[in-house]
Amino acid sequence: MPENDHASYLNPILSRYRYQATHLMQILREAQECYDYLHPDAIDYLTAELRIPRTKIEGVASFYSFFYLRSRGRYRVLFSDNITDRMLGNVALMKRMCNQLWVEPGKVSEDGLVSIDLTSCTGMCDQGPALLVNNIAITRLDTGRVDEICDLIREQVPLAQWPQEFFRVTDNIRRKDILLDDSFISGAALAAALIRGPEALLAEVQVSNLRGRGGAGFATGVKWESCRNAPGEAHYVVCNADEGEPGTFKDRVLLTSYADKVFEGMALCGFVIGARKGMLYLRGEYHYLLQHLNAVLERRRQQKLLGSGILGQTGFDFDIEIHLGAGAYICGEESALIESLEGKRGTPRNRPPFPVTHGYLNQPTVVNNVETFAATCHIAQKGGAWYAGIGTGKSAGSKILSVSGDCERPGIYEYPFGVSVQRVLEDCGAKDTQAVQVSGPSGITVAAHEFGRRIAFEDLPTAGAFMVFDATRDMFEVARNFVHFFAHESCGFCTPCRVGTSLLKNLMDKLHNGHGSPYDFTEIERLNQILLSMSHCGLGHTACNPVLDTIAKFRPAYEQRLQQLEFTPAFNLDWSLQAARRMTGRDDSGAHMHDRQEPR
Ligand code: SF4
Repeated sequence: MPENDHASYLNPILSRYRYQATHLMQILREAQECYDYLHPDAIDYLTAELRIPRTKIEGVASFYSFFYLRSRGRYRVLFSDNITDRMLGNVALMKRMCNQLWVEPGKVSEDGLVSIDLTSCTGMCDQGPALLVNNIAITRLDTGRVDEICDLIREQVPLAQWPQEFFRVTDNIRRKDILLDDSFISGAALAAALIRGPEALLAEVQVSNLRGRGGAGFATGVKWESCRNAPGEAHYVVCNADEGEPGTFKDRVLLTSYADKVFEGMALCGFVIGARKGMLYLRGEYHYLLQHLNAVLERRRQQKLLGSGILGQTGFDFDIEIHLGAGAYICGEESALIESLEGKRGTPRNRPPFPVTHGYLNQPTVVNNVETFAATCHIAQKGGAWYAGIGTGKSAGSKILSVSGDCERPGIYEYPFGVSVQRVLEDCGAKDTQAVQVSGPSGITVAAHEFGRRIAFEDLPTAGAFMVFDATRDMFEVARNFVHFFAHESCGFCTPCRVGTSLLKNLMDKLHNGHGSPYDFTEIERLNQILLSMSHCGLGHTACNPVLDTIAKFRPAYEQRLQQLEFTPAFNLDWSLQAARRMTGRDDSGAHMHDRQEPR
């Protein structure tokens, strides 16, 4: 560990980022790669060189799950913990690894070699269970692969020498439509845009009725026009590739196999709004894509599809850089993402003003999803009217779904908008399905009687997640997993969400532990009202969705947990003394608080 020579390790990083504090996230990430964690002396050095307070650096570092202010070992293992990972046995595999490596979950081994913990969904639901080791994804875990990983860690084999098969991530594209069509030629959309000119291209995007694919569905043409018309010293294009909604992995596939289309869409946006700089914010879990994406960018520069004078057009200068996130779901919210891009904690901003007028560095900024940018290439080439003719009246074009859970063929499915849930279930080989979670934990739980509903903004809007649950699954436990996710990912900025999501988690745990009563349903509804009316951003607003949906549609899963009609507290003092009774070998009446039965 190079603890005594910070300058030789940190100066090249600092120069690469021009000693700018706005690049703090990237500087911290690379610094951590040198030390395995953010060593206190390294933070001192960065404080002096960047001329920012140490508290700011520590405040940023402590916000993100993938930054460590204390050593977490040379091998940092994080098991993905989406509900689909749970269904595939991630917890048993983690326990197996912990036993073999003599380490408790969440702790560092005594020899400082390894730490093992859970993390939120890593976007590999179609090939889970999955884990990250030193931020690099490993998929298709089973007992054999876990045992091999344990051997490699024990023998301290560098990650670069691990079998490459471990790191194989496949696209699993099962159905293609216009967006995943392979006939796209790099530069063709830009060439078409240059012939049209920026105003006409904007008009085509407006005619297309393209709506943002991140979930909210805001009209892309309106967003681009507002940004184009906003005054500012510079305009920026930001691609939101912080695909953190559990169960969503379609951006991963677009960036793996269709990166040209995504980058070209960003350049089209730059052309329309007059931006010279674009940034792709890549979620930290997709670190393994960084090298590939940088190679695509470099090739595009050589092809004159990025840089100065794109395709020979004087004055059309646009380039893209990649910023890597560090494990914070909230950074998928566009204003939190901008804060993160500026090297800060990913706390959502007050809105208005909106990013189109006051975005990155307070300048006009378009933030769009990966899939949205890719779609604009087709509009530039074939026109807005052609695009508007696909899908439904209010939902033009196609939608890529990330299908996972109880089905024979999990993976990527692209359909024109308006496809029914039933059709998707048939295509993916789902049997005996009792529910589909559309659009992740913050979305909608669709029960069997609703499978005729359609994927479209006017019926079931979605960022892409489509998680399938067959009749063997306990929908209470599905909702409980989602609630734990929200409590973990609440950024803590506002009290209603910070406290409310924890209270909700506690209520669900109370039901799980057999202490529930009908009173708790009222309490959940009360919490929902508080979260809806007083939370600062969408995470708080939607945190109760999975619970309310499953109470409404799968009530027996809750009622079977109610052991009494009277309110009971979550904490049972007598039960909590059972460990002490075991240690002292006592079970007489004097060792009990009262004669209440121990809960399940
Ligand atoms: Fe953060 Fe939750 Fe408040 Fe959003 S609602 S700002 S996630 S604490």
